[in-house]
Amino acid sequence: MASRMDNPKDKGDDKSTGGSKGRSGKKVRVAFKRNRAKPGRVNDWTQQAKESEDYELDTAASESVVAKGDLSRRRTIIVPDDDEADDPDLRSGVVVAMRGLIAEVDDGKRVWPCTVRRVLRTRRIKERHPVTIGDRVRFRIESEGGGVEAEGVIERVEPRTGRLTRRVRNRIHTIAANIDRAIIVSSAGLPDPKPHLIDRYIVASLAGGITPMVCMNKIDLDVGGHAEGILERFAKLGYGVVATSATTGVGIEALRVWLTEGSSVLAGQSGVGKSSLLNALQPGLALKVGDIVEHTSKGRHTTTTATLIRLESGGYVVDTPGVKSLDVSTVPLNEIEMHFVEFGPHVPECKFADCTHTHEIQCAVLAAVESGAIHLERYESYVRLFEELGALARETNS
Ligand code: GDP
Ligand code: ZN
Repeated sequence: MASRMDNPKDKGDDKSTGGSKGRSGKKVRVAFKRNRAKPGRVNDWTQQAKESEDYELDTAASESVVAKGDLSRRRTIIVPDDDEADDPDLRSGVVVAMRGLIAEVDDGKRVWPCTVRRVLRTRRIKERHPVTIGDRVRFRIESEGGGVEAEGVIERVEPRTGRLTRRVRNRIHTIAANIDRAIIVSSAGLPDPKPHLIDRYIVASLAGGITPMVCMNKIDLDVGGHAEGILERFAKLGYGVVATSATTGVGIEALRVWLTEGSSVLAGQSGVGKSSLLNALQPGLALKVGDIVEHTSKGRHTTTTATLIRLESGGYVVDTPGVKSLDVSTVPLNEIEMHFVEFGPHVPECKFADCTHTHEIQCAVLAAVESGAIHLERYESYVRLFEELGALARETNS
């Protein structure tokens, strides 16, 4: 699967969200046109794409995805239709894992291996996977048990919210959908807390529509309240914070409460104690989180296959083996400032409407840094990100 995800030639232009967005729908027969010059709704494709598809950073590079041989063949698609009652045979579930083209769907009682209805595959061919981890789906059971590969068929994928994305060259892949919160894990010592890293993860979360929360683990190693002071900084900005120790058990219950609703991802540099925290929450949990290794001609590769793990106390945690779960490089340059929440009141006061707050005169953000209203380290994080993503944007455009 990793090789498929990484294939830069595997491109398409189908940005439509179509029937998957509807709450209910009726089937209609439509003709698929050959060699469409442009996707259906060009004007808002970026928005559509961001809402429900993996998307291409470079629009010019798009190619048609409609199979050339399928000239004017009629196909069934699902058109949203709120008048029609939901099919009673359809069950609701969450995609917890992908095994090739098989989606493992958890309906709360058990996991059903499902194929994806062909029409969804076609319409969402743009994506590496027509459905992804975290997708809320409606599915139909076709053959229960009996050792068949797929017992059900996914008929519908609900609109996505908070997503984990990952950049591969000029493309942005969705690695998990409907992620509610990111637990940004840092440690009080071994390794030392890194506020800039927390800032980066906060920006990546917010850009993906995910609520960031800050967890300072190894609080048993905090010397002179330094780590507590850093937590305080983020609490003042309005983010949920918790001090934990996977070793002594401090804060584990608070962390559990955070996780009981919806889906969460734990992010943070290696060694801060993410696995230890998972094991403190539920013994054996991190052990389930085994990297899936694929053997290819190029040797051993860790796949990018993410999975959702259901917690006994409620909620799901996403595991993204071998992938930085919060990738800041997917954040558009012009969106960085809005993810520094405390800049908000100052930005309108800058002399230039397009002030980047890096070198301009009469910059209100810089004035706020000088007066102490904005923390210097937060501002430094902003400048670093701005420069880094600016360089990346220039590289992409050249
Ligand atoms: P991960 O890479 O983020 O998953 O980190 P691990 O869970 O593997 O933990 C890295 C090391 O930190 C291990 O040796 C753990 O025993 C240790 N560790 C984890 N949590 C704590 C803690 O709260 N306090 C202390 N003192 N050590 C911890
Ligand atoms: Zn400014």
